[in-house]
Amino acid sequence: MITPPPAASADGRHDLLSLDLRGCETLAQTFGCKPFHGRNLFKWVHKHDVDDFDAMTDLPKAFRARIAAEARIDRLPVAAEMPSADGTVKWLLELADGQRVETVFIPEERRTTLCVSSQVGCALDCAFCATARQGFNRNLSAGEIIAQVRHAVRRMGQAPTNIVLMGMGEPLANFDAVVTATNIMRDDLAYMLSKHRVTLSTSGIVPNIYRLAEVTDIALAVSLHAPDNSLRDALVPINRKYPLEMLIPACRAYLRGDPRRRITWEYVMLDGVNDSPAHAKALIRLLEGTPSKVNLIPFNPFSGSGFETSPPERVDSFRQRLQRAGLVATTRKTRGDEIAAACGQLVGRVQDRRRRRVAAAVPAHP
Ligand code: SAH
Repeated sequence: MITPPPAASADGRHDLLSLDLRGCETLAQTFGCKPFHGRNLFKWVHKHDVDDFDAMTDLPKAFRARIAAEARIDRLPVAAEMPSADGTVKWLLELADGQRVETVFIPEERRTTLCVSSQVGCALDCAFCATARQGFNRNLSAGEIIAQVRHAVRRMGQAPTNIVLMGMGEPLANFDAVVTATNIMRDDLAYMLSKHRVTLSTSGIVPNIYRLAEVTDIALAVSLHAPDNSLRDALVPINRKYPLEMLIPACRAYLRGDPRRRITWEYVMLDGVNDSPAHAKALIRLLEGTPSKVNLIPFNPFSGSGFETSPPERVDSFRQRLQRAGLVATTRKTRGDEIAAACGQLVGRVQDRRRRRVAAAVPAHP
């Protein structure tokens, strides 16, 4: 039986980047072709990074003509490219409706990580996050998420070894598009990333953590930032709806008892707010019994945030306390901070001063 054709987009054409393998197979059948023609189409688009249907030589001519007329592959024009001295590159990419999102490429010694956005803005209003100041605008489609990956692959001439959904937006508030996009990231005919190399970061939308467990097993990072409800209510307001006694069991359930998996807890170090020995002690108690890795993130300041970064010695001693209690704990190296590409600094807007500097430093890209 043929599954119904994937929905066409607003302009009546099928948005090919929003289709996973199954979607491409179904599209091929809808156009009177075989599923394997859809498979080949999917491979051309993602593995071979081809946009020109005429170049997809193993597809029947009639199929090529139909997709050329009735489907589209969108590239996201670069509104700005900001390279950092440490090799990090941030792009401000423009969507078809003129909205802008940020994507960050982070080269490291043995891996390259791409940080992608899942929404324009964010509704969750975390107290220390620059994206929150922008408010929520709209969800990205799966195609708009994948277009960020395709852009980076083409621009850097290499595929990232890891992708993190840690850019602008709350991925679990854009559930279907995010799941489709992560399936494409993992597909052997596309970006071939293992489940350990695709990480979704959430502020803790508990019902959607359970839903996620039903459809995927990608790595989960959770923005914890506080070891008790009263502090977390203030820093991560979604905690008022889904407090720690709901969040922790949902995260444990996500691991399904697999001893090779664990939750990464993100914990932003805010001077005098959540960084005391007592907070470390409470955190150790909270995570007892949950396979965990704690990732301490030095707060990345932005103007008007009202928070300061914890001194490095305090971050170190906090980390050591966790380690002495047997927890795996690391301090995240801040990357690209001078181009506002570090965690929590993505705002999707370019200030005039910065735009001039970038325009002068970087040749324009189509
Ligand atoms: N909405 C998702 C993913 C985006 S943020 C989430 O909340 O997890 C990625 C990480 O950066 C989150 O842990 C977030 O809390 C953290 N972050 C936000 N603002 C920050 C800042 N100014 N400095 C350091 N980390 C920040």
